[in-house]
Amino acid sequence: MTPDAEFGYELLVCRYAELAWHPSDGPRPAVVSRQLGTEERRWDTVVIEVDPAAFAARRAFGERTVDSDLLHVVRNAPAEWAWYRDALPHPGYPWRYVRRAVHRAAGRDLIEERRDGNRIELRRLRPYPDWVERIVAVENKPDLDRSAADRLAGQLAHDVGTGLADEAWLATETTGERVEPALLRELPVEAGILATDFSEGVRADAAEVAWHPSDLAPAGDGERDPETETLRLEIAERAYGKGWRSFREAMRPDCRHFELRREGRALVPYCAAKEKVPTGRECSGACAEFSPEPPKWRTKGWPIEGGPGKGVAALLERRRERERDRVERVE
Ligand code: SF4
Repeated sequence: MTPDAEFGYELLVCRYAELAWHPSDGPRPAVVSRQLGTEERRWDTVVIEVDPAAFAARRAFGERTVDSDLLHVVRNAPAEWAWYRDALPHPGYPWRYVRRAVHRAAGRDLIEERRDGNRIELRRLRPYPDWVERIVAVENKPDLDRSAADRLAGQLAHDVGTGLADEAWLATETTGERVEPALLRELPVEAGILATDFSEGVRADAAEVAWHPSDLAPAGDGERDPETETLRLEIAERAYGKGWRSFREAMRPDCRHFELRREGRALVPYCAAKEKVPTGRECSGACAEFSPEPPKWRTKGWPIEGGPGKGVAALLERRRERERDRVERVE
């Protein structure tokens, strides 16, 4: 498979995870995103396992990511009115940035804000819930060869070492064949192996567990330090706001060659001009074959205002909403 095809594979893995998480332990409510992590390590697919009731409470804070500055305000906002400097712990950076974050949080209805003389006071509207149960990192490698296995071994060893994720997996395409045991021996034993067969597209049974992962959470009552917990929450918030269908934001669904194609139960982007799944980098305004959808398409027969490009965007957005509704309903 070419690197371009890896992008398409990644989308299929994301959709599979949305349909079938957890691969070995049975259904668990989860939010799926992609290309997230820290400065040192970016994960291909990220699965955030959630507590459904707490997830419903999180949704009351809106559909967008609560970023790190806002989290500082929202998590520490008091039940009763208080001066923000009394109420919030010192953030480790100047208070004026916190003041800005308080204004932003109030502007998004995450908290309430008022002025008492020249003091800014805040009060919470609702407690910020503890909605994240586990964070799972999945590396996607459709073609697992020796050099890919070597690289992945290093990356997965990093995940095992930092304990930022609770579980790490490698997903690899097998189309009915066994994964080469010699390659698997290269990988850390703690990482799970998911053998996918997407030859007929994505289905809930389109993958098998070739190796079970170990829990990477600190053993016993060993808790993660507060910085790691905060970092995990920031990743989870970005996953929540971004989802995995956000590829459309980096692409040109308004190009006449852009299509969404069905791969089993997944919809993936397809470029009719290049006859393949385009990457975000290729499918941009700089693409030599970019051709805007004709204005006629925007007025004739398209049920959604704005023509097919807008329609694609709206369709993917609806899918994301539907998945969030489904996660909330899981018992
Ligand atoms: S021609 Fe270029 S911009 Fe248009 S869909 Fe294909 S890759 Fe995207």
